[in-house]
Amino acid sequence: MDFELTQEQKMYQRAVRDFCEGEVKPYAAQVDETGELRWEAIQKMPMLGLTGLQVPEDYGGAALDTVSASIAVEELGRACGSTALSVSAHNGLCCGPITHWGTTAQKERYLPKLTSGNHLGALALTEPGAGSDLAGGVRTSAVKEGDSWIIDGSKAWITNPKYAPVIITLARTDKEAGTRGFSMILVEPQTDGLTIHPPEKKMGLKGSPTQMLSYDEVRVPLDATLGDEGRGFYQTMQTLDNGRISIGALSVGLAQAAFEEAVKYAKQRRTFGKPIAEHQAIQWMIADAALEIEAARLMVYRAAWLKDQGRDFSRAAAMAKLMASEVAEKVSRNAIQIHGSYGYSREFPVERIYRDQRLMTIGEGTSEIQRLVIARKVLAEM
Ligand SMILES: Cc1cc2nc3c(=O)[nH]c(=O)nc-3n(C[C@H](O)[C@H](O)[C@H](O)COP(=O)(O)OP(=O)(O)OC[C@H]3O[C@@H](n4cnc5c(N)ncnc54)[C@H](O)[C@@H]3O)c2cc1C
Repeated sequence: MDFELTQEQKMYQRAVRDFCEGEVKPYAAQVDETGELRWEAIQKMPMLGLTGLQVPEDYGGAALDTVSASIAVEELGRACGSTALSVSAHNGLCCGPITHWGTTAQKERYLPKLTSGNHLGALALTEPGAGSDLAGGVRTSAVKEGDSWIIDGSKAWITNPKYAPVIITLARTDKEAGTRGFSMILVEPQTDGLTIHPPEKKMGLKGSPTQMLSYDEVRVPLDATLGDEGRGFYQTMQTLDNGRISIGALSVGLAQAAFEEAVKYAKQRRTFGKPIAEHQAIQWMIADAALEIEAARLMVYRAAWLKDQGRDFSRAAAMAKLMASEVAEKVSRNAIQIHGSYGYSREFPVERIYRDQRLMTIGEGTSEIQRLVIARKVLAEM
C-alpha cells in the first residue's frame, strides 16, 4: 500500500496550485459578485490540461490518470467554487462521455473545440420533473423521422449551456423499453428549436451558469447519437459514477479553502487576552476539520485509484462523494463560526465558500441517493 502521490502527480499538483493562486483564487470574489467566469483564466487552462483532463492528447487533452484529474479539480475547488464546478462538469460530464463513446467523427468534431479553452461543455440529464429518478421521470423524447431525431421536451439545472459547443442530451427514444429506452444525443446549441434560457439566480456558484433548456422539434441527424441507441441510461449511470469522484475532489478543495481561512483567522483574532486559536473549543473545530478533510481526501483518491486500476469503483465513488460533500458543509460552517460576525460578511471568503459548497450534497446525486447506492451495494454483498 502506497499513500504517496507519484513524483509526477506532485509536480502536477504544484503547477495547478501555482496557476490557481495566480489566475483563479484572486478573482473568486469577483466571479461570485458578477456572476461571470473569468475567461482569461479558462483560456490559459489548456497549458495545464485542465480543459481536457482525461481526453487523449491527439484531441488536445492531457490524458491524465484519475488521481491526477482529482488533484486538479481539488485545486480548482480550493481557489474558486464556480470555476471548479464549470470546469469539472465540462470534463466529467461532457468530454468524458464523448471520449468514451464518441465515434472518430464525433471526437474530431467536438473534442478539439472542448479542449481549446474557448468553450465549456454540458450534459443535460435533469428535467423540471426528474432529478434523482431519471428513469421514472425523464419526459424529453427523441423520435425518428427519416435520417433525423426530432427532440421535444425540457431540461433544467444544466451547467454551462451558454458556453457549450455541444450539449449532450438524455432523451427517451423508446417509451416501451424502460431503462433500455434512453439514448444520449449530441445537440449543438444553435440548432433550430433549442432555447437556452438565462442562468438561474442561485445561492452560490454564481459564476457557473445553470440553465434551463427547451427543445421544440429540435432536428438532429441520427448519427448524432452518442454510443449505442438504447444505452443512454447505463451511460448516464457510468458518467455519474465518474462525476462523483470529481464532485468529491471539488468538495475537498472547498473544505480545504475554508479550513485554511479559519486557521489563519484563528491565529490573528484575539479574545480574553490570547489568540482564539488557543481556546480549546476553537482547537477542537480545527482538529475535526483536519481529520475529516484528510479522511475525505483519502477516500476520493482511493475511488480514483480503483478506477485507474480498472476495478469496480462505484461504491467507493458514492462513499467519497457523500463523505467529502458532508465534510465540506461541516468545515465551512465551522469556518464561519470561527470567524464570528466577520464570517457572516462578504468581506471574508468563508461566506462564499459556505454558499458554494451547499450544492455538493445535491448535484450529481444527492446525499440520500449516495446512501441508497451504498446500502444497495452493501446489502447485495453481505
Ligand atoms: C448548480 C447546479 C448544477 C447542476 N448541474 C447539472 C448538470 O450539469 N446536468 C444535469 O443533468 N443536472 C444538473 N443539476 C441537477 C442536479 O443533478 C439535480 O438537481 C439533483 O440530481 C437532484 O435532483 P432534483 O433536484 O430533481 O431533486 P429530487 O430528485 O426531486 O429530490 C428531492 C429530495 O428528495 C430526495 N429523494 C429523492 N428520491 C429519494 C429516494 N429514493 N430516497 C430518499 N430520498 C430521496 C432527494 O435526496 C432530495 O433531498 C444541477 C443542479 C444544480 C443546483
